[in-house]
Amino acid sequence: MHRTHTCGELRESHIGTTVTLSGWVQKRRDFGAMTFIDLRDRYGLTQLSFNEELDKDLNERARSLGREYVVKVYGKVIERSNKNDKMPTGDIEIQVTAIEVLNEALTPPFTIEDETDGGEEIRLKYRYLDLRRNPIQEKLILRSKLNKAVRDYLNDADFIDVETPYLIKSTPEGARDFVVPSRLNEGQYYALPQSPQTFKQLLMVSGFDKYYQIVKCFRDEDFRADRQPEFTQIDCEMSFVERDDVLDTFEGMIRSVFKQVKDIDLGDIPKLTYDEAMRRFGSDKPDMRFGMELIDLDEVAKGNGFGVFDNADSVVAINVTGGNSYTRKELDAFTNWVKRPQIGALGLIYCRVNADGTYKSSVDKFFDQDKLKSWAETCGSQADDLILVLSGNTEKVRKQMNELRLHVGELRGLRPRDKFSACWVVDFPLVEYDEESDRWHAMHHPFTSPIPADRAKMKTDPSSVKANAYDMAINGMEVGGGSIRIHDKELQKRMFDLLGFTPEEAQEQFGFLLNAFEYGAPPHGGIAFGLDRLSGILAGTDSIRDVIAFPKNNMGRDIMIDAPAPLNADQKRELGY
Ligand code: ASP
Repeated sequence: MHRTHTCGELRESHIGTTVTLSGWVQKRRDFGAMTFIDLRDRYGLTQLSFNEELDKDLNERARSLGREYVVKVYGKVIERSNKNDKMPTGDIEIQVTAIEVLNEALTPPFTIEDETDGGEEIRLKYRYLDLRRNPIQEKLILRSKLNKAVRDYLNDADFIDVETPYLIKSTPEGARDFVVPSRLNEGQYYALPQSPQTFKQLLMVSGFDKYYQIVKCFRDEDFRADRQPEFTQIDCEMSFVERDDVLDTFEGMIRSVFKQVKDIDLGDIPKLTYDEAMRRFGSDKPDMRFGMELIDLDEVAKGNGFGVFDNADSVVAINVTGGNSYTRKELDAFTNWVKRPQIGALGLIYCRVNADGTYKSSVDKFFDQDKLKSWAETCGSQADDLILVLSGNTEKVRKQMNELRLHVGELRGLRPRDKFSACWVVDFPLVEYDEESDRWHAMHHPFTSPIPADRAKMKTDPSSVKANAYDMAINGMEVGGGSIRIHDKELQKRMFDLLGFTPEEAQEQFGFLLNAFEYGAPPHGGIAFGLDRLSGILAGTDSIRDVIAFPKNNMGRDIMIDAPAPLNADQKRELGY
């Protein structure tokens, strides 16, 4: 038998029993006649003790064990003289009477401890060693719990888990495909799914009614910190539903996940329209952990001879509670921050709300105390607050203000990792115009239905048509999105037409789905959640790599297995290259 207990299990109540433990040598401490070893496994650490007086040879052998050796020990649980209340097993130690080395180990390239000395590249190269560390193990265990909570909820709600193929052809998410050459069909390629979108809709045509799958999706996009070329979605679809049926079901799922994984009650999840989210937060994934909402300052700021405001489409402010304590230097730093190319503002205007009822702004020349008072009233400012103002093109200025709001929120500790706030954003625009390709693009995907009242405008005023589409955001990050689908072929044709597909192109790319819709497609809708991002949020990390066992680096490489790699000559010949 390799073990009677795990390394995290033994307590005072076990004192006097003999046990067998197996694990890795975490640390060895040699003290004169005594040797101590911390033995580690997934469950914890247990101290082993060796005493020269009891067994000289064994003590010598213990001293020959290197870091990360795999050993099996046999011995007696005894009370520890030097108890460690930070360790769950800190009351006891094992007085070892026999050791078996199950495997030796090279010295690892970085220390396998909670705080390691290894840089990211080396840890990715030896990911199997990095995965031995507690902080990473904890995150993967959390992810496993999240998976279970999702499956429990959806299974209880009668969803059926159906697998869909990976070797398919282009799906409609609009990113670049990863392709796989077909040996049997020379010169032809499969595309890996960007999502199971078309298959889940086909399953609705087949009558499955409620589908889900925890599934890998593949998108060949340029690197971004929270993206991986392959990622996991909780992919779902339902028949005979309207928008609120879908939202209620998945609000329930997310609440149940937070309850089970973190014991947190998320409460009711508010719904904002896209227009409202953009107006109040400048973002379609607002961070609702704090207020500091965008305030329209047009009425009180324009028409005072200050050209920057007068010539702008919009003047937008935020009120920073207690922000008057920022020094002049700190305010200059904000200005520099918004002027960086990533944000792109031309400047930043401030107004201090002093405790004595006076105001001090960076545009005092144009705005007297009365005018500044009206700013403060519009912003609901109190004594010692600070008003920050940006102006320009409405869409741009809102986005810039969103960034500034998040930045100031971060600095003021308003975005703690252990606080969670979710919202739904609904009624997205159906399409957006892309200057470069001179075409309308589906904001979600081409199967998303317009809201019925707007259908007539699809031809005349596409940009004003709202989609029956929804996203969920948590703490300022998009965690899921979906829509009620088009299930009627005439409307689907109009949509393809708007997106500039000829009937032939539509038929070639999605003919199978359009044909299926001729055989009785039920009304249906669905959603997909990003499992990696959700795990990251629950685990309190910004990098989704932390919650993926074997992630890729920023060039899309797996540097542990060294992929991608060239093909060898035989493989090329077989594929006809
Ligand atoms: N397929 C969509 C996506 O991956 C989600 C959905 O519409 O259900 O974003």
